[in-house]
Amino acid sequence: MAATILIVEDEYAVARGVQYALQQEGYEVTVAPSAEDGLKVAEELVPDLIVLDVRLPGIDGFEALRRLRTMGSKAPVLMLTARDEEMDKVIGLELGADDYLTKPFGLRELMSRIKALLRRAYGDLADAAGGRQIRHKDLVIDLERRRVQRGAKRVSLTATEFEILRHLASRPGRVFSRRELLELVRDYEALDQDEKTINVHVSHLREKLEDDPGEPSFILTVRGAGYAFAER
Ligand code: CA
Repeated sequence: MAATILIVEDEYAVARGVQYALQQEGYEVTVAPSAEDGLKVAEELVPDLIVLDVRLPGIDGFEALRRLRTMGSKAPVLMLTARDEEMDKVIGLELGADDYLTKPFGLRELMSRIKALLRRAYGDLADAAGGRQIRHKDLVIDLERRRVQRGAKRVSLTATEFEILRHLASRPGRVFSRRELLELVRDYEALDQDEKTINVHVSHLREKLEDDPGEPSFILTVRGAGYAFAER
């Protein structure tokens, strides 16, 4: 799963053009036609980056940005402005925008700004945008480098823990029985043949990944069946 990007823009042609270009690069893109919709989506989807137009019907882009930050969103925001005065305001008010582009802009310019923002915010993991990486909220599983991060923090896992997480997270919502997980990961360690050994690894994983291991939000227990990774 690639980085997710939210575009808040009421001009259909601009929104579609940007969405298409970003999708070609492998990003997952959601479009919201108003600030009200955008704020709702931002809360549910927790996008990795937001492209926010200044001129929107209803709440404008400046106010939307202020509310985003109040809401606790730390996603980098690229503002789209129509005039130089607006640009001055973006810079002058220090609203917490990370970059801006004045319309009309070229898609190539937009793309390079977006890539730079993602790299700045998420480090080298952003290089794999569209590549072999799984993201859920602020959890990033880099399949190629076999690295796991929560936000900016690196999470160190054993080979078996990584494999269990990889299998679960590759198919969110799919329930894996303990027996099945044992079969999938047994090559990584001389594992005890007892299925209960999976419980031990899952509990270690939760301690490392979850805010509250007792109320997991990533690796869920499916009573009587096994484990499943949370769906978006
Ligand atoms: Ca607009």
